[in-house]
Amino acid sequence: MEQTRVLIIGSGPAGYTAGIYASRAALKPVIYEGMQPGGQLTQTTEIENFPGYPEGIQGTDMMEDFRKQALRFGAEIRSEIITKVDFSKRPFVCEDERGNQIAAETVIICTGAAAKYLGLDDEKKFMGMGVSACATCDGFFYRKKTVAVVGGGDTACEEALYLASLAKKVYLIVRKDYLRASDVMKRRVENTENIEILFKCNTIGLFGEDGVEGAHLVRNLGEEGEEKFDIAIDGFFLAIGHKPNTDLFKGQLELDEEGYIKVKGATTHTSVEGVMAAGDCADPRYRQAICAAGTGCRAALDAEKFLMEHAEL
Ligand code: NDP
Repeated sequence: MEQTRVLIIGSGPAGYTAGIYASRAALKPVIYEGMQPGGQLTQTTEIENFPGYPEGIQGTDMMEDFRKQALRFGAEIRSEIITKVDFSKRPFVCEDERGNQIAAETVIICTGAAAKYLGLDDEKKFMGMGVSACATCDGFFYRKKTVAVVGGGDTACEEALYLASLAKKVYLIVRKDYLRASDVMKRRVENTENIEILFKCNTIGLFGEDGVEGAHLVRNLGEEGEEKFDIAIDGFFLAIGHKPNTDLFKGQLELDEEGYIKVKGATTHTSVEGVMAAGDCADPRYRQAICAAGTGCRAALDAEKFLMEHAEL
């Protein structure tokens, strides 16, 4: 069976950064890029908040640069997907979708997370043309415009507040008649003049010519007093939660109740010694590319140290 010292599952800023550090440490990492090489950044347009790019950079270009940097130092990058893992004993045996097995002394998991969407066809139609799941990434393009945020949790409130500092007006579309967010966030949203909360409203469609120009909403869906109406908006932001891509690790690693991989303290060590996790699959809170890159670095350093301390491997 093929052997490797460091197996990295997943690409994106965490996976490639782990690859850069592990290859510079002469560990010859093997990276399985997975279904979406480059990760979530390849779905956004311009990245303006990653330090080092004063003029901004397209997400796909940035990920291509990360990839090239990992290749430059000798990382081996494969386009396959890991579909099975066995973390019950070392070396860890992982299998790709074609049934090829690889035995790894350490594994770094960087499988990321995916924003949840409502499931409307119009979300796909206007993706990158007014539909976004990241206000921090895309909010800047909506200065002095009108936007809507969907969701009633802390993320939705945070995104609405952030957008309210840039946009002319923000609609917060909430399906219940209350906000689930913490009191402090609720109060901030309620006290922000240019945020209008639309309680008991669901989005049923979006419209526009070359981008989002408005949303079709329904109030009191399925109840007495149900009414349909439209709002004019330039941007439509989803903040209804994220789902970490960790189904593969259920039963193998400790996950929190939402499926995020649990790591020990400020390290990237998971519940299984020799298996590290970095990036959004282990980060329910920050979910930023720069943070993912940082934890990718930490994971490679944790793997290197682990291999030194377990020289018998
Ligand atoms: P939450 O799960 O807390 O909230 C999701 C929101 O989206 C809910 O209001 C939910 O509505 C709504 N929603 C879900 N599905 C749909 C749908 N199909 N249509 C319409 N609305 C929908 O997720 P968050 O991302 O807000 O937060 C995740 C965790 O992170 C929480 O524990 C939160 O407290 C924490 N967090 C903390 C922050 C902070 O402390 N500053 C900042 C951001 C997050 P409903 O209420 O009806 O279910």
